[in-house]
Amino acid sequence: MDNIRIGNGYDVHALAEGLPLWLGGIRIESPVGCIAHSDGDVPIHALCDALLGALALGDIGKHFPDTSDEFKGIDSKILLERTMGLVSGEGYRVGNVDITISMQRPKLAPYILQMRETLAGIMHISPGDVSVKATTTEKLGFVGRGEGCEAYAVVLLYR
Ligand code: MG
Repeated sequence: MDNIRIGNGYDVHALAEGLPLWLGGIRIESPVGCIAHSDGDVPIHALCDALLGALALGDIGKHFPDTSDEFKGIDSKILLERTMGLVSGEGYRVGNVDITISMQRPKLAPYILQMRETLAGIMHISPGDVSVKATTTEKLGFVGRGEGCEAYAVVLLYR
């Protein structure tokens, strides 16, 4: 079957004090930010991997290598735009996406709607087709200790 395709993506970045925190294309007020070659936008990286995965096009590291100066400090919204170019190049559109961000702090609820609107704009779909959820791990594991941020994404593509 090739008229609908499903993909999933996962990403993790370590956190450190004093770095900017970008999640879902939004700058988050936070004492910690992601250590990364790019801006470290974990949910966008998971989303790009889900989009690429749906079409078996490899992964974000293959298309945007973290060894390349071209992608040093890059705004991950540009990576999402480029990934969307690959998706539309294959003749597909995004049906809906569902993202879960797992982070112990800060609280992300105030930013969720802005993330959905930003991501929807880049993917040319409605915010109603972009779910962003945030959870903690109840202080368990590396996320719970505040050492890292992780995100999962699932997408449905159609043509
Ligand atoms: Mg990443």
